[in-house]
Amino acid sequence: MTVLRRHPMALALLALVLLSALQPLPALVDAATGAPPADADLVRPTAYTALAPLSNVLDALTFLSLGRAQALLIEWALALAAWGALRRGTLRQRLDRALFGPLALAALGGAALVLPRPVPRLVTADSSLTVIDYHAHTDASHDGRPGWSAEDLAAWHEAQGFAASYVTDHNVVFRRPIEHPIRLLPGVEWRVYREHILALGPVRPIDRTRYDRDAQALGALFAELHHQGALGVASLPEYWLNGWDDLEGFVADSVDGFEIVNCAPKALAFSTARRGAVAQLAAAHDLLVVGASDNHGWGKVTCAWNLSSPSAHGYAANLVLARSIALAQGDWEPWTAAYTQPWLMLRSLSSSERSSWVTWILVILIYRAVPRRAGDPGGIGILARSLEMFKVRRPRA
Ligand SMILES: [Zn+2]
Repeated sequence: MTVLRRHPMALALLALVLLSALQPLPALVDAATGAPPADADLVRPTAYTALAPLSNVLDALTFLSLGRAQALLIEWALALAAWGALRRGTLRQRLDRALFGPLALAALGGAALVLPRPVPRLVTADSSLTVIDYHAHTDASHDGRPGWSAEDLAAWHEAQGFAASYVTDHNVVFRRPIEHPIRLLPGVEWRVYREHILALGPVRPIDRTRYDRDAQALGALFAELHHQGALGVASLPEYWLNGWDDLEGFVADSVDGFEIVNCAPKALAFSTARRGAVAQLAAAHDLLVVGASDNHGWGKVTCAWNLSSPSAHGYAANLVLARSIALAQGDWEPWTAAYTQPWLMLRSLSSSERSSWVTWILVILIYRAVPRRAGDPGGIGILARSLEMFKVRRPRA
């Protein structure tokens, strides 16, 4: 117990990890209702769980809305710099420590974007359902990650349990037949008159200027897409930010559906209340609701999956599942991100992830607590020696 008293930060973290279990949040929910899904589960690879503190932190950094990402990075950078500067030591030591915290934070942010790592995978018990993504980009999009090919995109999806994905580059029709490792389906994201419209299916190029003039001209796009045999789905955040007062107008123009989750940072600020309103509108008119990774080649994890049933039509044809930490982004003020994001992350830990956190905290505590022999350098040797305390003596043969 002296150990815990001497390491108040570790003690506080341990307490938070344990206390958060009292206010659990399902890691995965039905985005339209907020309820945990009945026939799907998030499966975490062993390496993901073994490294849970790193895995969970990188996921939590990925699922930040733009405003909350900015707030969290600034607030934590300032806090870490102040903490480093105010600890005892020479001026040089304090300056080094003040710099180290913000740099480590920046490294974590970079790791969330590009570090290869194990990722959770959606698994469904119902084999009649297809795990699908409706909205993802390659480097054919002006804002796609350079070098991010359709094959990279397919591998990214496959690792997370998807069996298929539409490829929807900005104003560039995708029609390559790719079957492995998952099926890539033809599509495009048309940017017309302040809106982004996903065209899904056997799409063909259009003359965008015909639909770009005003909302009325845009409305004619859906008839053209239907003529091509494709579906037209309104994308986030554009219909929320630029067309919120006339969602009925989309319905009158024969839109086929609405995104209710989109994992892009700008779109993650969409609130639960608005999501519910759109789901209600879609249900009333028997329209699709879909979730979108909107992957552009950055980040290793999606915040949303879809379970599509080919036999159904309209609203019942697709179930949107999403990470609850991502769905909560629009419900919290950006400035609270520095503490609400870690708390949402801890609340949504599975029991095995929580055990992994506790184990890591205890291992590091033991490492820090074992007195070093004079002249001993810090390092793995000390950890090995401290673990010897728990060694069971093997009986002699
Ligand atoms: Zn997009």
